[in-house]
Parts: sequence; C-alpha cells; structure tokens
Amino acid sequence: MYLPDPSRAARTHAGSVEAFEAMLRRSREEIRELALAASTAREQEKSRVARELHDELGQALTAFKIDWTAIDRRRRADMQKLESMQQYAYTKGCRRGFVLRYFGDPAARTTCGGCDNCLDVRVDVEAGAAPSLRGQSKSKRGATPKREIAPEDMPVLSGADEALLARLRDLRRNIAREDQVPAYVVFPDRTLAEMAVKKPTNAASLGKIRGVGPVKLDKYGERFLEVLRSVDETEAA
Ligand SMILES: [Zn+2]
Repeated sequence: MYLPDPSRAARTHAGSVEAFEAMLRRSREEIRELALAASTAREQEKSRVARELHDELGQALTAFKIDWTAIDRRRRADMQKLESMQQYAYTKGCRRGFVLRYFGDPAARTTCGGCDNCLDVRVDVEAGAAPSLRGQSKSKRGATPKREIAPEDMPVLSGADEALLARLRDLRRNIAREDQVPAYVVFPDRTLAEMAVKKPTNAASLGKIRGVGPVKLDKYGERFLEVLRSVDETEAA
C-alpha cells in the first residue's frame, strides 16, 4: 500500500507557495505604483485645467479693465457726500454757513439771518407732523413730515377769527416792511392763523404756537400780543 510521505509533499508545496507569494507581492507593488502614477497624472491634469481657467479669467478681467482702486475711491467719496447731506438735513446751525464751509469757506459766518434755523422756524423732522387743530393728528402721525404746510393743516377760522387774522396780517406787513424782509420770514400764514384761533394773551401761550420760537417771541411777541389782547378786550366788552 502506497502512502505519500507527508513531510516531503509539504516541502515541495512550500517551495511553490513561496514562489507564488513572491509573485503576488511584486504584483501588489506594481499595482500600487501604477495607482500612484495614475493619481499623480490626474492631479497634474486637474491643476493644469485650473491654471488655464485662471489665466483665461485673468485675461477676461484684464480685457474689461476693471479699476478696483477707482471703484473703491468712488464708493468712499459717495458715502462722504451722503454723510454731509445728512448732516445738512439735521443741523441745528446756520444752513448757509454749513454750505459755505462745505464748499471750502472756513471763514463763513455762523448766522445768516435768513435760513430756517437762523429764523427759528425749523420743522423738527424727528418729531413728525405737528398736531393739527382739527384733531387729525392721530391719523397723520407717522406720515412723512413735510416742510410745507398742507392746506388741511390750517386751523378752521370763524368770522371773528378772520377779522383778527386780517389785523395780524397788517401787523406782519408793517414789521416786514420795517425789517425789509419777506412777510413769511416774520411769521408764516399758518402761525398767524393759529394765533387767530387760540388768541394767546401772554408770552408763554404765544410761545406755544407753532412757528413762534424764542427768538421771534423776543423780537415780535409784544407787538402781536398787543393786537391779540385788544381783541380779547373787545370780546369781553
Ligand atoms: Zn442761517
């Protein structure tokens, strides 16, 4: 009975297995090298495409000749102008002086006697529309403040008020002539109308009327109060 010698067979096989394993190792290394080469080639191709795109884009941008520095300079100048405009709108000082200083006159006077701030007729834009005498203030609150007075904002005048208003207008005309200024500079129509309706008889209540600031109260207050008081006496009599 033939029995193979197990140790001999194992030795023979061991040689083949070693040879096979060596071949396998070499193949693995070759595959690794090939993979490495492939990935390197892929990376190189990628960066080549990126470089080309970058160059093309650069050429396109150069063709347009975008001057980023100039754009930035322009933007800053525009922002500065906007800021100056806001300062002009909110200034409590003389507006003429503000404009003159803006255009490079450092010696501009601080008062001109002609702008709304110098004349003390500034409408406080932050306070919104002033309350109307017709009780429309609630519906008007929050509306865009206007410098001009809308006709519906004028007080409602009775016949007696109309007569008083005519006398106030006469006084205004005289003062305007004396001071050599336009009538509205003394007091605007609306302020006279409110005086004719509310008929203040002392400086404190006259000062509460819209358009009568401390400067004008001091300047014209007494003369207007004279007219207003005389009506009061007439009505009482
Ligand atoms: Zn002024």
